[in-house]
Amino acid sequence: MFSSSYTSHLQYLCRRSSAPAGDLGSRLTNAGDYLQIHGDREAMLSELLQKYVLPPLMKLGAIKPVQPMVAGVSHLLKFHDRDYLKAIKRGAPERDASGAPLSASARLAALEAYNLVDDCAVPPTPEGRAELWRYCCAVAGGSLHAASLLAGYPAEPLARGEARRATVACNWGGGRHHAHRSMGGGFCFVNDAVLALQLLRRRFGKTMYLDIDIHHADGVEEAFAGTRSVVTVSFHKHGHGFFPGGGGLSDAHGPRGRDSHFHSLNLPMPDGVTDGDFVPFFAEVLGGLFRGHEEDSASGGFKAVCLAVGADGLHGDPIVGPDGWSLSTHGLSECVRHCTLKCRDEKVPLLVLGGGGYSDVNAVRTFALCTVAACEGVRPGVLGRFPAAVPDHQYFPKYGPTFEMHTPGPTRRGMYGGSDAGRQKKKLDAGMDDARSALAVSLAGLKAQATGGIQFGGEEGGEEEVEGEEDEEEEEEEEEAAAEGERANPMEVGVES
Ligand SMILES: [Zn+2]
Repeated sequence: MFSSSYTSHLQYLCRRSSAPAGDLGSRLTNAGDYLQIHGDREAMLSELLQKYVLPPLMKLGAIKPVQPMVAGVSHLLKFHDRDYLKAIKRGAPERDASGAPLSASARLAALEAYNLVDDCAVPPTPEGRAELWRYCCAVAGGSLHAASLLAGYPAEPLARGEARRATVACNWGGGRHHAHRSMGGGFCFVNDAVLALQLLRRRFGKTMYLDIDIHHADGVEEAFAGTRSVVTVSFHKHGHGFFPGGGGLSDAHGPRGRDSHFHSLNLPMPDGVTDGDFVPFFAEVLGGLFRGHEEDSASGGFKAVCLAVGADGLHGDPIVGPDGWSLSTHGLSECVRHCTLKCRDEKVPLLVLGGGGYSDVNAVRTFALCTVAACEGVRPGVLGRFPAAVPDHQYFPKYGPTFEMHTPGPTRRGMYGGSDAGRQKKKLDAGMDDARSALAVSLAGLKAQATGGIQFGGEEGGEEEVEGEEDEEEEEEEEEAAAEGERANPMEVGVES
């Protein structure tokens, strides 16, 4: 699949804030800023990457920035329901089926049916909805473009000597894992992760999806619950009232009963978990899954990996609050480093997406460091050598008081050093034990299944279902069209009425 020298460049996708007004970059920057909950995150990340992170990596030949394509409605329809997309683009209908005007409450009910309210509210003005639609197309286009680079469908002419396929591709604007086929959720309107996974699955075969955002990856898990060809693994906080509510250990079986347990793995992590527990466990899960699925004689193991990195597991995330995780930028970038090196060793392509993270400056630190970590496969040790001080640039004051790239993550001792230390430590250890047990059960089940001990109910040899997926041949054609460089203008491709 790859040359033995593993010299392919890593590809990086991000909105560019410095592009001249009116061109694609500028439009995407505006679209990326659509989610006000993320503050200046997109613009800050773009600035830090372009001024500080990318130049030395490009000099090393480890990375290549790419102008992302913008998805069209035909791409979004690979997963999403047509009427749902119509509601995003046009808002609530003015009239009912008979042509009679709808009341305000009936119009609100129409949007509520798609959960296009509250944190996924559709703007009331046509201009606002046009901006939302541009944002949706930009997010989906970025992740689809990243996946197509891994698949070997470069949208731009290759430079001399450049590898046709990227080995790692990142889209930090992606990872909108809560969107469902016909429902919004948690600031997520379209599920770029599902769209990209569909492409990877079709191009490579069995694909692993890992999600280390603090919220359960409900939209992605649901989309692939009916197939064994995409294994979803969600690390998240699970507790009473914590969004989106699912993903508990007992929910791990999915809609197919016990069998789903082996390909829809939920790993709730205890409150206050620090790098010291999280990172080794992440590496254990990754290694265990690769080993466990090697025995799957039908697929021959994983052929591609997608990792979604939320930055809302960082200590003190302002939206998650004090009962969240206590990770640091170091811990999250270590997860990306582990994953990059593992995928290099296994010779499988890696797609890296972003996610939540509600301290804009800390999310930017995370994604910037993870960009460096993603280059470890081609330039081992580059993360450790990267300068710690944030350079002077437009957003420099935001990085105070430390003005450093890393956030200091609390240690276990720091977290649990008070009078309640014993009880809190016990709770943390019990939570980690539960997660390890869930992993062990899943891997043991896989083994039993591989040796004929467990049969998948009625599925062997039959059709597997991926939610929202339509005719495969048609899909292949459209994927190839996208891969060949189709840059659909979302404003020109209307949703049919
Ligand atoms: Zn999240």
